[in-house]
Amino acid sequence: ASHVQDANAVSPRNEESYVHGPSEMVVGVLGGGQLGRMLCQAASEMAIKVMVLDPQENCPASSLSYGHMVGSFDDSTTVEEFAKRCGVLTIEIEHVDVATLEKLEKQGVDCQPKASTIRIIQDKYQQKVHFSQHDIPLPEFMQIDDLEGAKKVGELFGYPLMIKSRRLAYDGRGNAVAKSVEELPSAVDALGGFDRGLYAEKWAPFVKELAVIVARGRDNTISCYPVVETIHRDNICHIVKAPANVKWKIRERAAEVAFNAVNSLEGAGVFAVELFLTEDGQILLNEVAPRPHNSGHHTIESCYTSQYEQHLRAVVGLPLGDPSMKTPAAIMYNILGEEEGELGFRLAHQLMKRALTIPGASVHWYNKPEMRKQRKMGHITIVGPSLSNLEGNLATIIEGKILDDT
Ligand code: ATP
Ligand code: MG
Ligand code: MG
Repeated sequence: ASHVQDANAVSPRNEESYVHGPSEMVVGVLGGGQLGRMLCQAASEMAIKVMVLDPQENCPASSLSYGHMVGSFDDSTTVEEFAKRCGVLTIEIEHVDVATLEKLEKQGVDCQPKASTIRIIQDKYQQKVHFSQHDIPLPEFMQIDDLEGAKKVGELFGYPLMIKSRRLAYDGRGNAVAKSVEELPSAVDALGGFDRGLYAEKWAPFVKELAVIVARGRDNTISCYPVVETIHRDNICHIVKAPANVKWKIRERAAEVAFNAVNSLEGAGVFAVELFLTEDGQILLNEVAPRPHNSGHHTIESCYTSQYEQHLRAVVGLPLGDPSMKTPAAIMYNILGEEEGELGFRLAHQLMKRALTIPGASVHWYNKPEMRKQRKMGHITIVGPSLSNLEGNLATIIEGKILDDT
């Protein structure tokens, strides 16, 4: 019984028996999904203690963490109880009880990034207001409270019109597209109605989506990872190519926008900046995640310091590591649930077995207890000499050519 499985249990391990590593600070992570799991994996190299707070007893991070408190990261009492066990609090999901974090900060609890940052980010409309006030280029946006208002915005921005839920969005759940004024009511209904808090965004006619992971240390040094291209399927991140195959000028501009966006937020850690590249070469910000991110999974194999290690270094106050790539190219493929239940697991297994025959490919499986359609179950990263080479390898894995040959 090495894990804290209930809120009243004491510290899980005998501190005396440990040799002191680079940091003795217990890092408390709100959320224990795959991002939390990969934080635990990175932490183990330097024996940094990561404690996770997640309601699911068998969440992906649970078995790899120094301690797991079973409980909601959106519940005030639970978050306060959790904070007592940790030297610093951080997040792997932004949908947490931010009011409690603000209260704890006032009492001297260390939150990285700052609660103010999480508050701005967790309401996408507020986030857009914040970035527009800091002169970050964005698609035009406007709050909508009723159908009349939505119609007016439709006339102003044109169609297709993107309707977004202000809160609790992830993997595109929280986005609905109205292709015409007639589709407005159904788009609004799909998001649960105006009471849920909605806003509209002008359609961004992007040619590519890009992303940049930006790290800030406790000493305020800022360091950017290489710009990557992200490819979404049904609004869900599906493939990431690193580095992005765009002109040098575009990469420079993307990094600049990402830097400015993160510079406007407070606190240490890694931040992911999602961007649109338009046909005329403009970079527009889509959203920022104040934590490790899907677009940075590849860094585990492809960079000198992974985004997970970087996040830990940042929040505990160690020097930041080198974010540059140690391989010429990397491609990341998300293993999304194709089917519910057993059939879904079988398909994923076949995919992983094919991947394991490819040189340079690494398989990550998050150990989620249930398989659901479109759910992020794991990912594959392939590193190698060039993106075109890796695209060929990925096609082999996806199309199952090797299976067919045997
Ligand atoms: P994540 O899982 O990244 O948190 P999310 O649910 O917060 O996703 P967004 O990032 O807002 O959703 O949007 C998901 C995807 O929808 C984007 O990556 C992009 O492909 C598309 N999208 C979002 N906003 C727009 C827009 N204004 N115009 C065109 N496409 C858009
Ligand atoms: Mg999001
Ligand atoms: Mg997004």
